[in-house]
Amino acid sequence: MSVNLEDSFAVNYKNSIPYLTIPAFTQTEKVTHAFTTRLGGVSKGCYVSLNLGLHVGDDLSAVAENRMRICEVLNVNIENMVCAEQVHGDKVMLVTSEHLGCGALSLDSVIQGTDALITAEKNVVLSSYYADCVPLFFLDPVNTVVALAHAGWRGTAKRIGVKVVENMVSIFGSEPKNMLVGIGPSIGSCCYSVDEDVKDCFDGAYESKVFKYKSGRWMLDLKKANKYMLLDAGIEEKNITVSNICTCCKSDVFFSYRASKITGRMASFIAIKGC
Ligand SMILES: [Zn+2]
Repeated sequence: MSVNLEDSFAVNYKNSIPYLTIPAFTQTEKVTHAFTTRLGGVSKGCYVSLNLGLHVGDDLSAVAENRMRICEVLNVNIENMVCAEQVHGDKVMLVTSEHLGCGALSLDSVIQGTDALITAEKNVVLSSYYADCVPLFFLDPVNTVVALAHAGWRGTAKRIGVKVVENMVSIFGSEPKNMLVGIGPSIGSCCYSVDEDVKDCFDGAYESKVFKYKSGRWMLDLKKANKYMLLDAGIEEKNITVSNICTCCKSDVFFSYRASKITGRMASFIAIKGC
């Protein structure tokens, strides 16, 4: 199985399963990380095929099999996965070994009401789920701290990415100038029309840069919005890798909520190596 994607994220294959990685993260040799596609799993129907979301109405045994497959690809233990509920909020949670397995195989144990996870511990496999929202990846290679954040329009308007940076600074003494950031595949401004009330939720400083008026609707560039906010938080442009991929245009390779309301979820993963 091969996918034709030209992107700043790299496409890798293992066990015939494609997954994307951020070259700058890989070069540090400090982390295992990935963003998945919809290819390479066992789910059926609108969840074809690598659906990793437990909360979308898919057969749970298929999701478990898909999660086992991707964990094997990444050479991580499924019992070390940590997943959050994702409520389009801005809560950031510090994850430790106490949370191992939360949400890995059941929604009952998921970390409640949280959209961003940070850890500095080896063995902890952070994971987050997507169908059009922006996956944010963070790595401070100096203090060896990693994080993921789920940034849909609500989370982006609440500056969830900036809140992750602020937490990494206050908890671990991370310096923004050292941090690497990945802004992954998500719905592009080509496909993301929104209403005026969405625009009203954004800080005026960003409004004119990330909304464009087209055919009576506002087109929102969520990746750009996250990038501008992170630049303002002190992340250096050379340290930000932005995927060009629109998940809605490429709904043959990625799950897209905008393209089909009932659908599966891709996942982002990051873990500090050295388990
Ligand atoms: Zn598009």
